[in-house]
Amino acid sequence: MKLQDLNIVVIGAGVGGLAAGALLARKGAIVTVLEAQDYPGGCAATFSRNGYRFDAGATIGCGFHAGAPMEILGKELGITWPIVQEPVAWQYRYGKLHLDLHPNRLNILERFPRSAPFWAEQKALAKQLWHLSEGGLSWPVMGARDLARLARKSIAGLSGTLHLLPLARKTASEWLASYGLDTDADFVRFIDAQLLISVQTTSKHANAINAAIALDLPVVGAYHVNGGIGTVSRLLASSIEENGGAVLYRKQVIRIDSVRRQVFGLETSDGSAIAADYVLANLTPDSLDLFIESEGEPAVEKKESSLWSAFTLYLGMEPALFSALPSSHVQIIGSSGELAEGNSIFVSVSSADEPEGAPAGLCAVTVSTHTRPEPWFEAKKRGDAAYRELKRTYTERVLDVLSEQFPDARNAIRSITAATPVTWERYTGRVQGCVGGYPQISLFKVRGPLTRFDNLFFVGDSIFPGQSLTGVVTGARRTIELLLQRNTKRGQQQL
Ligand SMILES: Cc1cc2nc3c(=O)[nH]c(=O)nc-3n(C[C@H](O)[C@H](O)[C@H](O)COP(=O)(O)OP(=O)(O)OC[C@H]3O[C@@H](n4cnc5c(N)ncnc54)[C@H](O)[C@@H]3O)c2cc1C
Repeated sequence: MKLQDLNIVVIGAGVGGLAAGALLARKGAIVTVLEAQDYPGGCAATFSRNGYRFDAGATIGCGFHAGAPMEILGKELGITWPIVQEPVAWQYRYGKLHLDLHPNRLNILERFPRSAPFWAEQKALAKQLWHLSEGGLSWPVMGARDLARLARKSIAGLSGTLHLLPLARKTASEWLASYGLDTDADFVRFIDAQLLISVQTTSKHANAINAAIALDLPVVGAYHVNGGIGTVSRLLASSIEENGGAVLYRKQVIRIDSVRRQVFGLETSDGSAIAADYVLANLTPDSLDLFIESEGEPAVEKKESSLWSAFTLYLGMEPALFSALPSSHVQIIGSSGELAEGNSIFVSVSSADEPEGAPAGLCAVTVSTHTRPEPWFEAKKRGDAAYRELKRTYTERVLDVLSEQFPDARNAIRSITAATPVTWERYTGRVQGCVGGYPQISLFKVRGPLTRFDNLFFVGDSIFPGQSLTGVVTGARRTIELLLQRNTKRGQQQL
């Protein structure tokens, strides 16, 4: 079928689903996005509550620098992103160690002078990786065409590619060890803290190549998105509508009908039935399995080990507390030195340049920490009291860590709302509230967009290259590429 005749339904208005939908609508396809909530963005949404505007999960705009996925996407869709680069991506704090993550890394090099050769190699690797990802990444490789494309790009930057190969099977920790940095506890903790929020695991398990590009974020630039990070999704949704598509809210898909390897329609909780030539699932594999007619067979083979969820606090605060910060973001590791589970937090403060983000004289603050989902669901099963107690414990732990660096923090709080993995499950539709994508431990065991259905594809951070705006937009291009290839093949078979 010609692209212009294709009915493409996207389940979910996360950034991945919307980016894929917007690119397909721009190419002429008939795109309908079905979103369970009444606003777009999912993990990268911005919501309003009691006069505050909070970023739900993601707070840092990434991939907007020249030649990066968000910049290219904007150009292609005719969107001018309302962004401002943060002078300092964020500040890292552990006890008295305060590091500004500035694009020039001077601060880090001063504190860890022995790390200079490591950063020089990281820079070279990241440059090559950004080059490889330009225009999309044919990974995981699905056939001769992908191999040829990858080979073309690799040969164009041959010396860089040869540089990448030895690290492809190494962990970040092995990479650090090759510079004698693995025994510097402060440096490893600093690196681990960056890796946990980007590749969802620490140096012991993270793949070195994934780590190399993740560590590049403060250098290429962290961006503030005016109106909150949810502006990105709102602009993508508008682009779909301008190109003749539809983004329908409060449309929760509850069933996907299929015959053998073909999906042919979807049902939503309000009783609507929608036909589709192709379906893009902006979901995790577990969530998709909840409503697919699959006779017990999962839509894809499950590959994950442990996935993270998040515990988040949305605080209305007095802004004076943060006035000395060089950035809107600060990452704090508590005195125990442990990461995750409330011991390390990422704090984002709304911009004073956008007074509409909070009631007069106050600011909106999102604080997040990684947490494993299982204890939360066990507590919920034990009853409301157990669940509330766990929520109270985490709230206090997070506020303790915040207070270690900002002793007046508790006094500056004017309102407080907490979201647990249970909240995240309800809000994003992700089973167990598993937000953040998969831990990037191997380049060779990653999931691509294909499912066991010929016309159903994944999009979003469950597929390579994983989480972040950059990640899901790069993944969306791969989804589209495979969908179009499949459509051409189908057309040839029908001739
Ligand atoms: C706490 C936190 C902090 C983060 N920080 C950053 C950051 O600073 N920068 C960054 O770039 N990334 C960050 N990320 C990661 C980033 O937010 C995600 O990787 C990305 O937004 C995921 O997008 P997605 O397209 O996979 O889908 P999601 O955001 O999961 O969206 C999926 C959408 O599908 C909808 N949906 C689900 N089920 C159904 C259904 N049955 N029917 C209809 N609709 C449905 C959901 O309501 C949701 O809107 C962070 C994530 C978290 C959780």
